[in-house]
Amino acid sequence: MELPDREICYRALQSRDSRFDGLIFVGVTSTGIYCRPVCPARTAKFENCRFFSSAAAAQEAGFRPCLRCRPETAPDLASWRGTSNTVSRALALINEGTLDGDGATVEALAERLGLGERQLRRLFLQHLGASPISVAQTRRVLFAKQLIHETQMPMTDIALAAGFGSIRRFNEVFRNLFDRPPTGLRRKTSRIPIGTEAKVTLRLRYRPPYDWDSMLSFLEARAIPGVEVVENGSYWRTVEMDGSVGSVEVACLSARQSLGITIRFPNVKSLPAIVSRVRRVFDLGADIETIDAHLSRDPLLASLVAQRPGLRAPGGWDGFELAVRAILGQQITVVAARRLAGQLVVLHGKTISASRSGHLRLTHLFPTEKRLVHAKSLGLGMPVSRQTSLKALAEASIADPNLFRPFGTIEEAIERLRTIRGVGEWTAQYIALRAIREMDAFPSSDIGLLRGAATLDGAQSTSERLLHRAESWRPWRAYAAQHLWAADASAISTNRSIE
Ligand SMILES: [Zn+2]
Repeated sequence: MELPDREICYRALQSRDSRFDGLIFVGVTSTGIYCRPVCPARTAKFENCRFFSSAAAAQEAGFRPCLRCRPETAPDLASWRGTSNTVSRALALINEGTLDGDGATVEALAERLGLGERQLRRLFLQHLGASPISVAQTRRVLFAKQLIHETQMPMTDIALAAGFGSIRRFNEVFRNLFDRPPTGLRRKTSRIPIGTEAKVTLRLRYRPPYDWDSMLSFLEARAIPGVEVVENGSYWRTVEMDGSVGSVEVACLSARQSLGITIRFPNVKSLPAIVSRVRRVFDLGADIETIDAHLSRDPLLASLVAQRPGLRAPGGWDGFELAVRAILGQQITVVAARRLAGQLVVLHGKTISASRSGHLRLTHLFPTEKRLVHAKSLGLGMPVSRQTSLKALAEASIADPNLFRPFGTIEEAIERLRTIRGVGEWTAQYIALRAIREMDAFPSSDIGLLRGAATLDGAQSTSERLLHRAESWRPWRAYAAQHLWAADASAISTNRSIE
């Protein structure tokens, strides 16, 4: 994401233009504070403003976060840093805490991404104006600050959750930045009584527009009984992480351009990972205006974009779970695949009590790779070959814990997935799209996509024709796919209501 020139940035600031929220940050040299462009405070003089493309860059330059506009609440457009996939992947790993803790090094991070340390630093400087270490430090401070402002969590838990090695370090960092201990930032009046129930509620901002209804219907159509529930406009699911279990609930607060998330989870250290998964499932990092504008250049797709502005491409909660769904869904309808997934969960998933999950219908955890590998028979009503594929998938996932993480180019990622028995082109593209978040993935042979494409131009399409046509949708074919699926789903429901 290149920073616009100073005059444009300043005009955005003067008009408190929300379209720039998350894209630029302004440091005010006379106060030492940095802000979002929408800050309600009086606009600083032009000569006192320095503009940055990330909060980390502002913090690296010595500015501290504003307490009014709260830079930690800006939409996190981390996944859309220019065209650099590497930077997006590095940011995702940093968000999960890869650079927290003692042994963590930038070198190891670079190695995981398949490049040298110097190259990674250079890319960070180019796209974020800050080093990987600054980005990690800023993330810790901003996440801790959000937890201080929005929750009643004890400070020791917040220090742990945000990835500070010790409470001493946490206090030190906050004293340096804000001239006061972390407790000094908490509002005196607590809005929520200190909890009898261990849950944390947070708001995650998105860049509008956001087509929440389409997101929710997509998730509802695929919700695995026992593991996921869509109810009263909210999405719920069970969560298992680092040996602990709980749940997360997500609702849309459109007036605040945010999603409200409620996490019921006993281990605070898992909070960043849970938040980062919510961001992934709900595609919060998308610079949707740019994507919609790009897709609208195709006149036929433009009509779909106009029908569903802000349509997001839902991600998968967990790579293995998503890959299992993909195999279950081979050559059958979404409804049938969902039923099979429900069977799989009842037969092989661990149970979770309603007091833990917070919802009577959230009764199971999705089975892990280990459970499926050790199961004698999967006992599912589906062809033996596909059950063998599921076993092979579980084995591959155990053998390579990074199997469903970004890897090389999209072609390399697809090729690697295709080495798994039973994973063909469609399945690999689907996994790449929803689990690995390759936003240019495109399962062109998908029956729903082909039907959706037929609604565009009225003619039956083929995989080859669709692929050819999709060339101009790059690098965001995943969003085009989402529009085609949505068009297909609404055509199907219209036909049903006519029958
Ligand atoms: Zn401010």
